[in-house]
Amino acid sequence: MIQAMKRNIGRGRRASPALPTLVASIAAACACAPSHGPAAAADIDGAAVLALATELAGPAHAGRALGSPGGALAAELLAGRLREAGFEVAFRDFPERVPVNAGNAALETVAPDGSTEGFAWREDFREIARGGYEGGPAEGPLFLVSDPGAPFPRGSILLVPGRLSDPEDDASYAARGAAGLVVELVGTDPARRPLWAGQAPGTLVVPKQGFVKIGVSGGAFARLAASAPGTRLRIESPLRFVDAMGRNVVATRDGDGGGAAPRLVVCAHYDHVGADRDGSYFPGALDNATGAAMAVALGAALAAALPGADLAVLLLDGEEVNLSGSTAFARAPDFPLAGVTVLNLDMLGSRADLPVSVYSLGDPAGSRLARALVAALEAAGFRSAHEAPVRNLDHTPFSMAGASAASITEYDTADYHTKRDLPAGLSEDELDRLGDALASWALAELAGP
Ligand SMILES: [Zn+2]
Repeated sequence: MIQAMKRNIGRGRRASPALPTLVASIAAACACAPSHGPAAAADIDGAAVLALATELAGPAHAGRALGSPGGALAAELLAGRLREAGFEVAFRDFPERVPVNAGNAALETVAPDGSTEGFAWREDFREIARGGYEGGPAEGPLFLVSDPGAPFPRGSILLVPGRLSDPEDDASYAARGAAGLVVELVGTDPARRPLWAGQAPGTLVVPKQGFVKIGVSGGAFARLAASAPGTRLRIESPLRFVDAMGRNVVATRDGDGGGAAPRLVVCAHYDHVGADRDGSYFPGALDNATGAAMAVALGAALAAALPGADLAVLLLDGEEVNLSGSTAFARAPDFPLAGVTVLNLDMLGSRADLPVSVYSLGDPAGSRLARALVAALEAAGFRSAHEAPVRNLDHTPFSMAGASAASITEYDTADYHTKRDLPAGLSEDELDRLGDALASWALAELAGP
């Protein structure tokens, strides 16, 4: 999921999981299910989903950034699994301009007596992609902003409290000669890596130079704000923008032999937010190795249960940058999207006790789909709710292209976009039961009129 304002819906315990058990036992009894009719069933193996998610979140894939070697390996791994499940697989590449941490990172105060104090990367401070300002070094007198419109000495490094922070002010600060900006992070922290620079989906960010932005924790902000008068700041952001090619993995199955015209598409983004310059990476286990692994498992289970059905699995790149994989696919789809049902999976199987959110754009078709998914999830013993309009997930470009699209998400913010988003935070049982519920819903969807 890309970072944006998001409300978390209420917490509580979910009801007893009687239905998934029933679905699983039906599935076990119907190993030779016919290709059509009510007897078809599909069972999702939570252990297999967890194993694939764990592999995707591992060191070989190094955070699966768009255009990175790890991202390319992840695409190959997923394509191989889908071919094994009987899908035709194609790669669709598209251009993107990606934020990477390629330079030095520094934050240091220089007191009037010449003494210096350093701050720690990822603990006290981090890069900020929002606004599209390229990193680099900057140095100047620290100026604490109390009114964004008030004057300040040219060449200052501005220290902006979170309550006054607004990316809309960046251009004015830069035009008035600020050398850089140190923003107090609110509702996020230096451990998180953001990629979205604020550009509209389907457009490349236009990087700006000469104004360096970093974000600091509340604690680091308080230390900086208490600096002696006359203190100077040295800052350096490692952020650069590089042109790269994203890669969507498009898997289709022409079950009826009449050309692939899927009525159901299961999609998930497989990219994540990459690595830092020291090679330490963001595993992205929950976000979204789980969704990608579940999409593969669902595709394989549905293909086995309904061999005569046309269906597609899309493993999308660039979600973390700018929804760019889904946007690129919707602009040039491999099959018509109008009227197609698109189930997007993004962050599934957290160990935290969270409801399963179903997000849509709020359009009639998306809302209908979301309500049906909520009903199916509740019938399977999950707490679930529909939220709309939600735009910052991959269902959005599909909805805008005329599909009925919704996203399923367990929006666990504890380790969101940090190096702690590891497979240890995932629940095999939850993946198993959620997979069974989604497979059962998808079978009914495919078998329906
Ligand atoms: Zn994400």
